Amino acid sequence: MDSSEEYEDSGNESSGEDVEFAMERDDRAANERNPEDDYPFSVLSTKDIVEHMVDSIREANTVLQLPPTTMRILLNHFGWDREKLLEAYYDGDQEQLFRDARIVNPTVTRAPVIIPASGVEECEICYLTKRSEMMYGMECGHRFCKQCWSEYLTTKIIEEGMGQTIACAAHNCPILVDDKTVTELVTDPKVKLKYQHLITNSFVQCNRLMRWCPSADCTNAIRVQWVDWRPVTCACGFTFCFQCGHGWHDPVKCQWLKKWLKKCDDDSETSNWIAANTKECPKCGATIEKDGGCNHMVCKNQNCKADFCWVCLGPWDPHGSSWYNCNRFDELEARSARDAQERSRAALQRYLFYCNRYMNHMQSLKFEHKLYASVKDKMEEMQQHNMSWIEVQFLKKAVDILCLCRQTLMYTYVFAFYLGKTNDSAIFEDNQKDLESATEKLSEYLERDITSENLADIKQKVQDKYRYCESRRQVLLDHVHEGYEKDLWAYNTTIL
Ligand SMILES: [Zn+2]
Ligand SMILES: [Zn+2]
Ligand SMILES: [Zn+2]
Ligand SMILES: [Zn+2]
Ligand SMILES: [Zn+2]
Ligand SMILES: [Zn+2]
Repeated sequence: MDSSEEYEDSGNESSGEDVEFAMERDDRAANERNPEDDYPFSVLSTKDIVEHMVDSIREANTVLQLPPTTMRILLNHFGWDREKLLEAYYDGDQEQLFRDARIVNPTVTRAPVIIPASGVEECEICYLTKRSEMMYGMECGHRFCKQCWSEYLTTKIIEEGMGQTIACAAHNCPILVDDKTVTELVTDPKVKLKYQHLITNSFVQCNRLMRWCPSADCTNAIRVQWVDWRPVTCACGFTFCFQCGHGWHDPVKCQWLKKWLKKCDDDSETSNWIAANTKECPKCGATIEKDGGCNHMVCKNQNCKADFCWVCLGPWDPHGSSWYNCNRFDELEARSARDAQERSRAALQRYLFYCNRYMNHMQSLKFEHKLYASVKDKMEEMQQHNMSWIEVQFLKKAVDILCLCRQTLMYTYVFAFYLGKTNDSAIFEDNQKDLESATEKLSEYLERDITSENLADIKQKVQDKYRYCESRRQVLLDHVHEGYEKDLWAYNTTIL
C-alpha cells in the first residue's frame, strides 16, 4: 500500500451546512473571543485521517524504507511515535524489535516458498487439495487456501472486531496480518470498510493529538497541536473539551468534572429523584409540572397562583435582590456538625444542594431546545410584518445565548461543590447569582412575554437582555480563569 487509494473512502460527507447556522457563526465570531485564535485545531474526516496515516507512514519510510504495510504495524506498535521507532530501530536489537512488533524481519532474505512440481497443495485448515494459485501465505510461510483465509479474516474483523491484532491463521504463529493481505483476500466491501475503521480507530486512539468527535453518529476526528483543557468545535457543530472528550464544561476543570460525574453515577438514585419533573406547590400543595426551561413557577391552581422558585421552592420575588441566596449553600451547619452521623447528613445535604442546581440547569437546557421551535414560528410571523430574514435573527441568537448560559451555570455548580471558602469564592458566588438571575429573566421573557408588544420594541429588549447575560457569563468565566492562573482556588476540605 503506497497511496491512500488502497483505503476506500468511507464516504463521510458532512451534511450541507445550514445557512442559518453559518450566518450565526459569523455573528458570534464578531462579538466574542474566538477560541481558535489561541488554540488551533483542525477537523478531520475519515478520508483525511487515512491520508494523514499514509503520510505518517511515508514520512517514516523516507528514513527506513520498509514495505508500507510493515511500517504501519511498526508505527502502531510505537503508538505512532516516529522518533521512538527510529530510536529503537537504530539503538536496539532489530531482531527483537521485529519480534516484539510481531513482524517477520523484512531485512533478512528468506528462502522462496517452494511450490510443488505437481502444482497442487493441501490446505491445513480444510484439508482440501487445491492448485497453488488458490493458496496464500504471508512472510511467515504458513500457507492456506484463499477461501479459508477469507473466512478467517472475516470472522476476526466482523465478529471479534479485530483490526490491528489479527495473527496468522496458523496455530501459535504470532505474525500479524498486514493490510496487503486483507485487501487481497477479503472481497466483501462491508468487511473491508469495517477493517479500515478499525485501523483508523487505533491510529486516532494512539495519537495524543487526535480525538474522535464524541457526538453520536459523527465520524470526524479533531487534531490539535498540543493537548489542553480547551474547547474544540467539530464540523457537526458539537463543542467539546479536547483534553477529556466531554461536552465543553467551562468553568470546571476536567479532573473535578470526572469526580463529579462518578459521584452522580454512584448516587444515581438520588439524581433520578432530583430530576423528577413534578413538585408540589409550596403554598397550596397542588402538583406542578415543569414543561419549560424557566424556573419562575406560577401555581396553576386559580385560587393560589403562588409565584415560587422551582429550585429552592422559596418565593420568587426576592430572587433578584441582594440578600436572597438561591445559589449559595449555607456551610455553617455543616461546619458545626459534631459527630460522624451529623457530618455525613450535612455532607449529603450539601451534595443535594449542588446536584439539584446542576441537574436543574441541565434539564432546563433540554427544555430550551423546545424554545427554538417556538422562536422559529415567531420569526416567521415577524417576517410577514415587514422585517427581513436578517433582522429577525436576533431571536435565534437569544436562544443560543440562553443555552450557553445554562450550560455554564450547570458547570458552575460542579465547580462550587469542590470549591473551598475564600474571598474569591464569595466573588464567584456573586457572579454566579448575577448570571443566574439574568439568565432566568431572559428565559422567562422568551418563553412567556414576547406576545403582543410591537416588534421593534421586542427586538431592543431581547438584545439588551441577551447582551447582558453574555457579559455576565464572560465576567464569571474571566474571574474563574484568572483564579486558575493565580492559583486562587482551594479544594473544599469538608467533602467526605
Ligand atoms: Zn482451506
Ligand atoms: Zn504464520
Ligand atoms: Zn462531530
Ligand atoms: Zn475536559
Ligand atoms: Zn399553589
Ligand atoms: Zn430559588
